Amino acid sequence: MAAQHDIQLRWAVIEDQLREISDFAHLAPSKRPAASCPICNRDVTMKLGEIRAYHIAHQPSDVLCVATNPETALHLNMKFYIAKQLRRANKLFAEEQCRNCNNTRLQVLFSDWDDVQVEHAVGIFRPDVLLLANGHPAGAIEVLVTHKVDEKKAKYYELHDVRWIEVVGNVSFYEGATAWTADKPIPIHRNHPDNQGWKCPDCLEREEEEKAAQERRRQQPEHKKATSFAPR
Ligand SMILES: [Zn+2]
Ligand SMILES: [Zn+2]
Repeated sequence: MAAQHDIQLRWAVIEDQLREISDFAHLAPSKRPAASCPICNRDVTMKLGEIRAYHIAHQPSDVLCVATNPETALHLNMKFYIAKQLRRANKLFAEEQCRNCNNTRLQVLFSDWDDVQVEHAVGIFRPDVLLLANGHPAGAIEVLVTHKVDEKKAKYYELHDVRWIEVVGNVSFYEGATAWTADKPIPIHRNHPDNQGWKCPDCLEREEEEKAAQERRRQQPEHKKATSFAPR
């Protein structure tokens, strides 16, 4: 896995489309299409070697592009990747843990969107990835690299009924054999509405049994009293 300081952008604009450059790794370098940086629009080279993680390289003479900042690159890689995955899916799952034990279940966070936008405005905010259904927000995905969803943003989303999740930025999320794909539960850091209320069937059953035992204990003195008045 790449160290945090090594992270570079792995997306480029190719024929007017934002593309994950790994799509072109099977082509010989001379056969690869022209690529430009999605942030500064300048020509870049796709680096698709076997030793370093795939990335784009600006020309050495270029003025520094903000996308070469590792944290910015990580943030961009995360949201472009999530958007690409969700464009091919119509459900987003998460694993929910029982509030009393380690049992989990799959929970559908968002479903049935018809559009996926990166940095699309919702009021004064721009969620990293926004799912839309008939033009209305169906869910927002925020990527945590340096800035978590703050109070103000959370309040705004709550007020406007925008459900959201926060995902921690990490290279292993989008790169390598264990990368997340939309058919797997997404690892979430925080979410709203909060799902901390779920209790698993095992815990519910145990609670029922405890309640029943308590009820029996409570009824015992009554029972004794009743028998003492029983006719002999
Ligand atoms: Zn650039
Ligand atoms: Zn449980």
